[in-house]
Formats: sequence, structure tokens, C-alpha cells
Amino acid sequence: MNSLSGKNTEIHRFFHILEGCFVASHKHYGETLHGHNFRCRVKVSLNRPVFSRNCFRQVIQGLDYQHLNRIPFFRETTPSTEHIAGFIAEKMDSLGCEVLEVEVFETDGFSGGVKQCGS
Ligand SMILES: [Zn+2]
Repeated sequence: MNSLSGKNTEIHRFFHILEGCFVASHKHYGETLHGHNFRCRVKVSLNRPVFSRNCFRQVIQGLDYQHLNRIPFFRETTPSTEHIAGFIAEKMDSLGCEVLEVEVFETDGFSGGVKQCGS
């Protein structure tokens, strides 16, 4: 019997992690135009794993080979890692996924993210 069985499930919350990459350019915070091989990590609830994976793939593909500043969402919100994470969370939510957390990496050592309040 593992520690997540029985009454302990009441204090633990299960989740899945989805990971993917996209190539995109952006210009933000006074930097010159540049690109990254962005890496994205999304934590979703256990509901409908195949559906969540398909939604994630769809959202990531929509960002691949794009200049992020041209996406309407980023006309008034700078396309920084945390705001890209917010965009991905919002897109996945709108498709019907229960997103708990999104983290976007520009490089191996730098990321920004967003999480659902209370998760
Ligand atoms: Zn950058």
C-alpha cells in the first residue's frame, strides 16, 4: 500500500506533466529581436490525459515558427516567458483543459511561469 492510497488521497493531488518545444522569435523589455528554442512544461489535472495532450500539442504547434509579438495576445502584453506561459494556460483553458501550472524556458537556466491559484 503506497502513501497516496486510502485517506491520504485527500491531501494529495495527482497531476500529469506535458512537455514540448517550439521555435519562435520575440522582442521584449528593450532587447533586440531574437529567437529561442523555447521549452514548455505544463502540469494538468488527471482528467482526460489524451485530450490534454492533444490540446497541448495544438497550442504548441500554433507558436512554432512564429514571431510572438505578432500574435494579438502579445500586442499589449510583452512576450516574456511568464506571459507566454500565461498565453499557453489561457489557450489550454479555453479548449477545456484543467491547467494547474505552465513553465516556459528560454534557455536551460531561465524560465518563467504561471500557476492556477491554490494549486
Ligand atoms: Zn528572449
